[in-house]
Amino acid sequence: MDLSLTADERAFQDEVRAFLDEALTPELRAAGRLATSVFAEPEFSLPWQRKLFEKGWVAPSWPKAYGGAGWGEMKRAIFAAECARAGAPALSPMGLRMVGPCLMGHGTEEQKAFFLPRILAGEDYWCQGYSEPGAGSDLASLQLRADSDGDHYVLNGSKIWTTHAHYANRMFCLVRTRFEGKPQQGITFLLLEMATPGITVAPIITLAGDHEVNQVFFDNVRVPKSGRVGEENHGWTVAKYLLEFERGGGSAPGLKVALGRVRGLAGAEGLLDDPDFRGRLIDVEVLVEAIEMTEHRVLAAIAGGRNPGPASSMLKTQGTEAMQAIDELAIDAAAPYARVDQPAARKPGANIEAVGPAHSLTAMPRYLNNRAASIYGGSNQIQRDIMARLILGL
Ligand SMILES: Cc1cc2nc3c(=O)[nH]c(=O)nc-3n(C[C@H](O)[C@H](O)[C@H](O)COP(=O)(O)OP(=O)(O)OC[C@H]3O[C@@H](n4cnc5c(N)ncnc54)[C@H](O)[C@@H]3O)c2cc1C
Repeated sequence: MDLSLTADERAFQDEVRAFLDEALTPELRAAGRLATSVFAEPEFSLPWQRKLFEKGWVAPSWPKAYGGAGWGEMKRAIFAAECARAGAPALSPMGLRMVGPCLMGHGTEEQKAFFLPRILAGEDYWCQGYSEPGAGSDLASLQLRADSDGDHYVLNGSKIWTTHAHYANRMFCLVRTRFEGKPQQGITFLLLEMATPGITVAPIITLAGDHEVNQVFFDNVRVPKSGRVGEENHGWTVAKYLLEFERGGGSAPGLKVALGRVRGLAGAEGLLDDPDFRGRLIDVEVLVEAIEMTEHRVLAAIAGGRNPGPASSMLKTQGTEAMQAIDELAIDAAAPYARVDQPAARKPGANIEAVGPAHSLTAMPRYLNNRAASIYGGSNQIQRDIMARLILGL
């Protein structure tokens, strides 16, 4: 496998670096550096999204016809790696990487013409209403009922773990439109406005102290049928299409940045001379190298028109476990400074030094927040089931 960049790719990398140098303000860099979740707060992600939108780089994988950059796999990987290295805030994936591509694949011409430009420009902020109190890994058992009433559906029930529902003005969700037969064949994919009467968003404060997820209640909520994507009772096909996008994406660049942070911290604390700590650090470094090589193999497979198969399950499992191992090292290195979260101190512009070393602000909240990474997006046990079926034929 040849990992060296071609002259064109190197020129593109230089162009990206020059743009990031100029476009990332100190506030945006600080927001990226101090983020403790894969989801940046919209007060930072949206200004960054607008800058990328103006540059034409906001949607690397979207075709040019829909306003995307239309880049191939390699350019996308270079761009993502440079953004991670520069500490750019993460963009919310719900519009750009989830419902957007889904509309391209299954939406009507009207839906595409209305929603896609708004997604690119960050005019709408989306949340994903899939999971319910009784439906997570077994998503097909979802029960949020949608009764037909003329040209509307009337929704009753609830969704849970809905990330950033308290910021979102729109939700894409799965509802039950038929109760008999196979569960997968009674599900419909629906777009709705969060301001519709009858919707209540209740916060769930996590172990990390974050307000990131919510439970959303629906009490006789009337949603126009024009918000349906695909046919009634065929939402499962649309939903599965979207999950492909949720699971995609490389994690090695971000993991390397996190490893660099831990190395710096451990060096400052004299821990690199500790054989136990050093051994654990090297184990994770080797794992991250392996993840990076696997990501390159996936890129090569896609570029060659081949299906990467179960690699996305493997990368999700290994990537989240590597991240969690790095978090544990950071906690050990920060030692007594690894204290509970202080969100006010993490705001860009806050006097970080006044409350202790900068690493002490993020080590613990990152560790706690990242516990969820092996649960969301398909839990690691579910990913292992997939690998057992596809690789071992069990
Ligand atoms: C921080 C966070 C953000 C989230 N954001 C969103 C969001 O924005 N929108 C949304 O719709 N959902 C969201 N989710 C929900 C997420 O998709 C679910 O938590 C996930 O699918 C697991 O479902 P569950 O929580 O119901 O757990 P369960 O499915 O009940 O699983 C419980 C445990 O049993 C294991 N298990 C279950 N089935 C099997 C099996 N067949 N084989 C082996 N082990 C199994 C699981 O791995 C897990 O360890 C989020 C979750 C978290 C934690």
